[in-house]
Amino acid sequence: MQIVRHSSQTLRTALLSKNPVLVSQYEKLDAGEQRLLNEAFQPASDLFGPITLHSRSDWITSHPENPQDFEQFFSDPYRSTPSPENHSIYIQCIGSLGNTRIISEQYIKWLKGYCEAFFYGLTVKLLEPVPVSATRCAFRINDNTQNLQIHAGDILRFLKMKKPQDAFCIVGITMIDLYPRDSWNFVFGQASLTDGVGIFSFARYSSEFYSSRFEGRVKKLKKTSSSDYSIFDNYYVPDVVTSVLLLRSCKTLTHEIGHIFGLRHCQWLACLMQGSNHLEEADLRPLDLCPICLRKLLCSLGFNIKERYKVNGRALVRWMDEGSADTSGVTSKPSREDNASLPKPVEAFKEWREWLIKCLAVLQKQEPSNMSN
Ligand SMILES: [Zn+2]
Ligand SMILES: [Zn+2]
Repeated sequence: MQIVRHSSQTLRTALLSKNPVLVSQYEKLDAGEQRLLNEAFQPASDLFGPITLHSRSDWITSHPENPQDFEQFFSDPYRSTPSPENHSIYIQCIGSLGNTRIISEQYIKWLKGYCEAFFYGLTVKLLEPVPVSATRCAFRINDNTQNLQIHAGDILRFLKMKKPQDAFCIVGITMIDLYPRDSWNFVFGQASLTDGVGIFSFARYSSEFYSSRFEGRVKKLKKTSSSDYSIFDNYYVPDVVTSVLLLRSCKTLTHEIGHIFGLRHCQWLACLMQGSNHLEEADLRPLDLCPICLRKLLCSLGFNIKERYKVNGRALVRWMDEGSADTSGVTSKPSREDNASLPKPVEAFKEWREWLIKCLAVLQKQEPSNMSN
């Protein structure tokens, strides 16, 4: 295991910058806000730690990228900022997310609620789910896994055409595996920052995906016509939304939408915006942003840190508490489709709930009152 540790000075500069205008903006934040963000460069912080690398296939080792500090983000002419006319995030489901209507609908509502809490200030809207055939995308059967895959670029083109007028971005989500081009094995997701569109697959978040027992495996390798989408009719979709699946989906969605804002992969601290090459690495990423990435997002969303943690931090905690399941952490399989809502499986979010509460405490800590004498 290797630890990527930056000096306090490097982290401080990445956060505050050397630009006097940006430094003075920072200094206008109130004491609580600065106290929380300053945790970025406290060596003994128990809120924000260094990035740890676990294998040579981890993202930073295998994809050298230039780091992006706050100032670089701020002065990037190509980054996208929501405006009063474009302040909605649209979520488009492609194919079903669960094996009953109620599971699919509930799952996507949980994701909507989570995104709304995370990107506080923006509206999240759900588009009516569409079958794969509606996208007219190319598809194939992956030689290694024998699972169906759909072409990510074709889906991006479909989403771009569907993008509503008031959209800041439109993101597609699917349980079907994706490929970006014929020579590639697969991709977790793909986005176009200039078009404000993205497509993300949760297919590989099922631990069974790689096993020969995986139900999504195409059993008979018959020659398929490129326009016969009936092959997707019995595509595998989960019959339970586990707490781990929900956590992974929430993290993916917020990480990828973060890219659409222009946030690049974080190389400063353990952070939601760290790149990930494989599932283990994605699982090790925290649920939330480090202070450097948080300042980037706040500057795009135009609200202050206190709101983010007071309103939005609380909104996230509330999302975790509302309608949550019991300690089993797994939704029970409904015996029939009715209107009863499923309990939200939030077991895997517990440690992050504690962490958010610690952040709120740092933000609100009372300054010792000055004894006048
Ligand atoms: Zn990424
Ligand atoms: Zn970060």
